[in-house]
Amino acid sequence: MNPQVKFKFVGENPPDDLPTFLFSLSNVPYVRAFVAARNIKLQLASEAHLSELLNPQNIAKINAGGFDLIESPELRASCTVICKYVDRSLLAKPSESLHSEISDKNGVKASITKTKFSLKIRCATPQEANKLLTNGVKAFSIFIPSHYCELDQWFNIIQCHKCYKYGHETKTCTAPQICSKCSEEGHFYTHCSKSTSTCPNCQGPHTAISGECPSRKHLLKNARLNHGLAHTHPTNTPAQPTYTTTNTPHTSAYSYATAARPPPPPHP
Ligand SMILES: [Zn+2]
Ligand SMILES: [Zn+2]
Ligand SMILES: [Zn+2]
Repeated sequence: MNPQVKFKFVGENPPDDLPTFLFSLSNVPYVRAFVAARNIKLQLASEAHLSELLNPQNIAKINAGGFDLIESPELRASCTVICKYVDRSLLAKPSESLHSEISDKNGVKASITKTKFSLKIRCATPQEANKLLTNGVKAFSIFIPSHYCELDQWFNIIQCHKCYKYGHETKTCTAPQICSKCSEEGHFYTHCSKSTSTCPNCQGPHTAISGECPSRKHLLKNARLNHGLAHTHPTNTPAQPTYTTTNTPHTSAYSYATAARPPPPPHP
């Protein structure tokens, strides 16, 4: 699947040829451009092109040229909060009622996806997502604390568009071109005569670029896991919490305050 991004021209006097004007700002080529009034959707050849287009310098130039980034895989992730360890009664509610309840109670414009143990809340903006990450999520009688909420991550899985294996770019591939539908050589998917798909990575009944591929899912899971590990160990020296003992007249409700108190001086 080619990555896509959407921009909207918000400046004055939109140019006649939006795609070419956008290209003149970013210098990143695209496969196809779809224009509807001031909106433009670009389909890019690879994740590498997408990252290049969305790097901060390029985005600054694109913004200065009058475009706003409306949607990209990265932006979508930055608007999406995943709530873990969610109470089952909440997950049992119909999606529509969750959708309106979470939107109303938390002041966000959300769409909801349920999984077995978690809720995925797609907000309208990264600011809304941040609000949930900071405040937690309220819905019916349930409160999901902020430490059970995390921002979705977008992971870049590199896939070759010649042999359709993962882990290398198309331009470095020495294998023969295969059909992304049946995995055989000698034709493209547009000329495929097979009635069923065969994945070159898992031999399953789907195309080489399917999001349903277990091999792809496995890679994504590993990427998430590695990211999680990198996240839990940000530095080599774990930060030691420092609690100062203050002689406040009010009794503290926090037991750790006493636990952190320095030991009494040894008796002579
Ligand atoms: Zn390849
Ligand atoms: Zn084929
Ligand atoms: Zn597969």
